[in-house]
Amino acid sequence: MKAIVATEDKKAKVVEKELRPLRYGEALLDMECCGVCHTDLHVKNQDFGDKTGVVLGHEGIGIVREVAEGVTTLKPGDRASVAWFFEGCGHCEYCTTGRETLCREVKNAGYTADGGMAQQCIVTADYAVKVPEGLDPMPASSITCAGVTTYKAIKESGVHPGEWLLISGLGGLGNLALQYAKNVFEAHVIAVDVNEGQLDFAREYGADLCVNPLDTDVAAFVQEKVGGAHAAVVTAVSKAAFNAAVGAVRAGGTVAAVGLPSESMDLSIPRLVLDGIRVVGSLVGTRKDLEEAFQFGAEGKVVPQCTPRSMEDINDIFDEMLEGKIRGRMVIDLKH
Ligand code: NAD
Ligand code: ZN
Ligand code: ZN
Repeated sequence: MKAIVATEDKKAKVVEKELRPLRYGEALLDMECCGVCHTDLHVKNQDFGDKTGVVLGHEGIGIVREVAEGVTTLKPGDRASVAWFFEGCGHCEYCTTGRETLCREVKNAGYTADGGMAQQCIVTADYAVKVPEGLDPMPASSITCAGVTTYKAIKESGVHPGEWLLISGLGGLGNLALQYAKNVFEAHVIAVDVNEGQLDFAREYGADLCVNPLDTDVAAFVQEKVGGAHAAVVTAVSKAAFNAAVGAVRAGGTVAAVGLPSESMDLSIPRLVLDGIRVVGSLVGTRKDLEEAFQFGAEGKVVPQCTPRSMEDINDIFDEMLEGKIRGRMVIDLKH
């Protein structure tokens, strides 16, 4: 089968690969598609260490071809996901208290386990979340990371209906953050991006206010317009965006950190303490979060914008991502 792997020279390459036989508890998926997340770009660039040879991809959707002994949750013909949260140990304090993505023994697809950018993928059946009826594979792929991550981050932000949520970075993650925020959490949204094209996209999807940090001081703008946001979700790959979000929330506000620039942010201790600001890291979502995020997709509340691409396009897609040319998600079509 063909698969996209990370290479030593920080590129991605389409290679031929043989899959090993299934082990107890595993399922084999015939992959339909897999979205390209900015995290794949970090992995192939070795931002989190050298992962040469790993099959990339954690927005994978496939159809179960075969299940091994011990599998009770999937059967041949089911449609299921290959997500960043690929497997936990199942018994540690995180796995047993609803925080399974923090498991210290975790395996992550496209990073520490072979991922979804391949014609076939072996998954740990108990961890491959089923895609509900009514949700097509392309939009399901985007929800498998971009959707569930932002859905969870909004939960972590604690924003309530009618309150102001600042979303910084309106790319693959951010445009879904906007849709979950508006259509599921019923928040008012301030969209922040350095790219005017992304802001136009955000306006189309109902952002209440749009602001570009290249020409406006985001914190001052938000404090003046709405008295500060109640919460912020930062997906932008930039330290400046994190700093601006801390400045833009009101007293008691929460900043949910999602983007992964390899930098440190500035945190004024008096600002944190005197204004009771919370800054929380939010990492993808649990299997339950993904089930919920899929369901909102199936109900049409969240409509990911997907462009099908071929496996051979992978390095071009990474270039386009770096250049800020992508609207919504580029999704590798693995069937054609
Ligand atoms: P993307 O490239 O599609 O989108 C990033 C967006 O940020 C772009 O629209 C870009 O114009 C915008 N941006 C850049 N600089 C900005 C700035 N200073 N202010 C505001 N906006 C700015 O990337 P993506 O796929 O949405 O991923 C975003 C980040 O989230 C990546 O670092 C990725 O690794 C990370 N991520 C984290 C999790 C998690 O669980 N925490 C999950 C998935 C992805
Ligand atoms: Zn991702
Ligand atoms: Zn665990």
